[in-house]
Amino acid sequence: MAGPRTESASARARRVATVLKDTFGLQRLRPGQRAVIDQVLAGQATLAIMPTGAGKSLCYQVPALLLPGRTVVVSPLIALMKDQVEALREHGIAAVQLNSATDSEEARTALAAALDGSARIVMTTPEKLAEPGFVDQLARHPTSLLVVDEAHCISQWGHDFRPAFLDIGPALKALGQPTVLALTATATEDVARDIAQQLGIARGGIINTGAYRPNLALEVEQVAREEHKLERALAFVKAVEGSGLVYTATVKAAVAVHEALQGAGESVGLYHGKLAATERHAAQEAFMDGSVRVMVATNAFGLGIDKPDIRFVLHYQLPSGLESYYQEAGRAGRDGQAALCRLLYLRADKAVQQFFLVGRYPTDDDAVAMYEALSGPPHEGGSWTLPLLQARLGRPRAKLQVALGLLRRQKVVAMEADGTVRLLRRGLEGEALRPLMAAYRDKREQDRGTLERMVFYAQTGQCRWRLLLDHLEGETSFERCGHCDNCLRIARQEAVLATAQAAEASPQEPDRAAHAVFASGDIVLVKRYGRGEVRQASATEVTVAFADNTLRAFQPEYVKKARTRASPAAP
Ligand code: ADP
Ligand code: MG
Repeated sequence: MAGPRTESASARARRVATVLKDTFGLQRLRPGQRAVIDQVLAGQATLAIMPTGAGKSLCYQVPALLLPGRTVVVSPLIALMKDQVEALREHGIAAVQLNSATDSEEARTALAAALDGSARIVMTTPEKLAEPGFVDQLARHPTSLLVVDEAHCISQWGHDFRPAFLDIGPALKALGQPTVLALTATATEDVARDIAQQLGIARGGIINTGAYRPNLALEVEQVAREEHKLERALAFVKAVEGSGLVYTATVKAAVAVHEALQGAGESVGLYHGKLAATERHAAQEAFMDGSVRVMVATNAFGLGIDKPDIRFVLHYQLPSGLESYYQEAGRAGRDGQAALCRLLYLRADKAVQQFFLVGRYPTDDDAVAMYEALSGPPHEGGSWTLPLLQARLGRPRAKLQVALGLLRRQKVVAMEADGTVRLLRRGLEGEALRPLMAAYRDKREQDRGTLERMVFYAQTGQCRWRLLLDHLEGETSFERCGHCDNCLRIARQEAVLATAQAAEASPQEPDRAAHAVFASGDIVLVKRYGRGEVRQASATEVTVAFADNTLRAFQPEYVKKARTRASPAAP
């Protein structure tokens, strides 16, 4: 059956195979890559959700060479763009980068190559794309494909929202509606829906290869006191081989951990948002080229980090949620070799994240103040822009930009190509505006839930991959990974139990019998949690109810009997 469709499909497959081999020197596509490439070449808007290291870049690099017009890649990662462009050029692909960081000489040649169409791949940032006139210049030569890398940054429901990404959707039309390819490793429903909606991707255009990374071993180490953490981190870093990352939630902790590791003679670098750009760059280079073994960093480091041989990621403090954790821990083992992801868990660290939750989103007041400002002119005959609003209101630009994005989507305001902001609906009083901002109140609630899930991950006795995948992908059929700390513990306990049962069956060794030591109703003491009552008990797990109405599961060895039964209080 060789109809025209199958014919063109097989012709396409041949062209893909040729490019793969001749340009990239690769033998075959990985699972998922073929589906994405086929769909893109067929002109269907696509969202590809593939784990870190799966090879998302190739999903646009191959089509870029086969499509008639150029490919524009929008990415938040200026720091990596240079390397990516150089790597493409080494493969003989005409690629340029256009962003605020390119110096004028380089920028001029790059711009020329982008505008005359000689560049196959144009890499740029969302900020650059939003610059007045830039898209119109680009539009003079046809664009076949617009790629949004790290596309979760477009979603306000994601963990790494970048307001500038909100301008990508509007740019599509100006570029003549090229095929869209959004790429991300973040797989939650909310985020996927938001990306798809903003970029006009149909449900059927979503390709999700699943988030499971079998080479990553997940572990949590409970720490009782803040003072023990440094010592635990030092011991861990000393014991593991290969290069790795230590993530902290705060700059202060990053500095402390870096100092301690350095004092212990480890080869270690430091990266956080308060360092000068040159210092950050030097630290990144040293880690990337292997001259420094360990990088201590806040989450300012790492989005898109392309170091294949990271062997461990240690979280010194609780991250804000499971999505962030997956993304950060997932920087380990991109080469597919085994890697270790450990979280040091101190209960008090939850408070650090709670502190960050406040003030992440614009408040009703931010929106009302902006609306009121927009209701009048900035000065005689002038018009409003975001920088002018920021100057007038003295509120953080990111918050105003987010509020503006929301009001734009609700058609309360419009933004012209030159950055002018115009009011479309007048006479909305503060009270009328508040419901429009409800999304952010929901978002704050949701963030609290996200943090609770993170805490649950740290405390669970179940398979950690299962919990992570349940969160990222909704209900999964995933049973257990078999190699996280909990799976290994359960396996050990089952082995002990099996031996004990065998012994029980054999009369020669009567005292090695299995014992479900606890019974429902037993009053017990658990270190750090205090007194509680047993609700359920097996030989491997004891569930205890505490006075604060929480239920927690423990391994039997951590539970001590207080009295055998709950007896009436003494008179
Ligand atoms: P990510 O999905 O995290 O963006 P990358 O695109 O950076 O991943 O690719 C990760 C690594 O996998 C790169 O070193 C890349 O060269 C390699 N890679 C991608 N696709 C293939 C393939 N089909 N065969 C072999 N190696 C591949
Ligand atoms: Mg990538």
